[in-house]
Amino acid sequence: HGSNGSSDDLTFPLEIPPAKIRFTKLFIGGEFVDSVSGKTFETIDPRTGETIARVSEGDKEDIDLAVGAARRAFDHGPWPRLPGAARAKIMHKFADLIDQHIEELATLDTLNAGKLFSWGKAVDIPSVANTLRYFAGAADKIHGQVLKMSRELHAYTLLEPIGVVGLIIPWNFPSTMFFVKVSPALAAGCTMVVKPAEQTPLSALFYAHLAKEAGIPDGVINVVSGYGPTAGAALTSHMNVDKVSFTGSTEVGRKVMQAAAASNLKTVSLELGGKSPLLIFDDADIDQAADLALLGVMHNKGEVCVAGSRVLVQEAIYDEFVKTLVEKAKEWVVGDPFHPNSRVGPQVRINVDKKQYEKVMSYIEHGKREGATLLTGGKPAAKKGYYIEPTVFTDVTDDMMIVKDEIFGPVMVLMKFKTMEDGIRAANNTRYGLAAGIVTKSLDTANTVSRSIRAGVIWINCYFAFDNDCPFGGYKSSGFGRDEGMVGLQKYLQVKSVVTPLYNSPW
Ligand code: NAD
Repeated sequence: HGSNGSSDDLTFPLEIPPAKIRFTKLFIGGEFVDSVSGKTFETIDPRTGETIARVSEGDKEDIDLAVGAARRAFDHGPWPRLPGAARAKIMHKFADLIDQHIEELATLDTLNAGKLFSWGKAVDIPSVANTLRYFAGAADKIHGQVLKMSRELHAYTLLEPIGVVGLIIPWNFPSTMFFVKVSPALAAGCTMVVKPAEQTPLSALFYAHLAKEAGIPDGVINVVSGYGPTAGAALTSHMNVDKVSFTGSTEVGRKVMQAAAASNLKTVSLELGGKSPLLIFDDADIDQAADLALLGVMHNKGEVCVAGSRVLVQEAIYDEFVKTLVEKAKEWVVGDPFHPNSRVGPQVRINVDKKQYEKVMSYIEHGKREGATLLTGGKPAAKKGYYIEPTVFTDVTDDMMIVKDEIFGPVMVLMKFKTMEDGIRAANNTRYGLAAGIVTKSLDTANTVSRSIRAGVIWINCYFAFDNDCPFGGYKSSGFGRDEGMVGLQKYLQVKSVVTPLYNSPW
């Protein structure tokens, strides 16, 4: 089974998915409904390129209906008015229902996004239930402050839910991204319209079903599947949406902000792309560092916003590191994501202009043409489906596209640096600032470098060490606003000041 790409005759034997697709319609006001136009779009299994289901295609009219349902649920419904503990209780029930459907949910994300099924079952799906529980724990602890005014005034702040929120999510972590946004919004008492990525609507629709079963009132969570320029754009320019939380590309993030500015000045938070550096210092354990470097960019076939796609290695260990890395790259077996031995599945797929596989392959061709040295990989890994070999380039220069652009595939660029200052300069030489990794045994190096890199999360001697309590988001063109952690709750809240004179004092 599987291959690191050495064979020319590759077709992977297909595993049979352990669950069937149940929900394919829009979820508005607590009901599954067809789109107003009656249109549907195909959702594709990237293992084969074949259509596995047709899903309702929401557009502006459907967004209008969904925002209307969310507005009514916010203005007149129980959700924002419930005591926090009552919201928490329902959120815990929702989390328990997710735990009861792990296999089915993991199946949907594997079928839709080519994600590893074993990883989904063990990590992705259980962790979204925990995200709900984390924010449920905050729901009854949301309160303002009593202010110490400079005059004889009594004043306090109230933290109120911001209102109807639009949540636009990408396809690379369909479940994780759904709950990173839905959970704090629920805890805050907001109502919402979720627009899942057109590549991966299936798990989002299943979550809508579970939300209803858990007792989340109708209209609180609405899910409208559809394309970005139609359904997504309608949400960002809607006059009745109070906030948009967006995760996706920098290019679309810009459009989201423009639409917000041009409509009702809704608040916006943006989690965007990255080209994150991993700095490996010459005191590092080479074996461990090579494992970490490969994990950083091959995990989820490189479709990770925080992928450590630029690996910077200090001079003294560079040659030995390269040898170890190339050897270990073979452990990243490409294959059917349902098969337990696979570590790299196919790139995500949709039958419109955005074709991830072609995009990644064209960057690889670019790298070759621009004169970078290909250390390993660089070819399709199968005849059928959208599989790409784990690929490593070296001998690159700062102006090459493969160094500057986010590739969003299993492609690493490897660079050498001399001093710590050189390493820091190279790490910061990017328009992005989402994450960075540091591998060193020196506390001084770790402390200095982590303070010098302009990125939202720094992992020292680890990578992808996520936690619900750990804020996450970007510097520079990687966006602004933080998901996760208590700071992740704040963007779903509005601060209101209430002031009254004390002792009949003149104000
Ligand atoms: P994308 O920006 O094209 O799509 C993301 C979402 O935005 C989808 O739901 C899409 O339908 C919607 N969208 C597209 N055009 C829109 C428009 N005009 N108005 C409103 N919504 C619109 O992103 P992609 O290329 O599909 O996803 C990959 C990108 O997402 C990468 O750049 C990656 O770095 C980024 N990403 C970032 C994070 C993070 O947390 N920072 C996480 C995952 C992915």
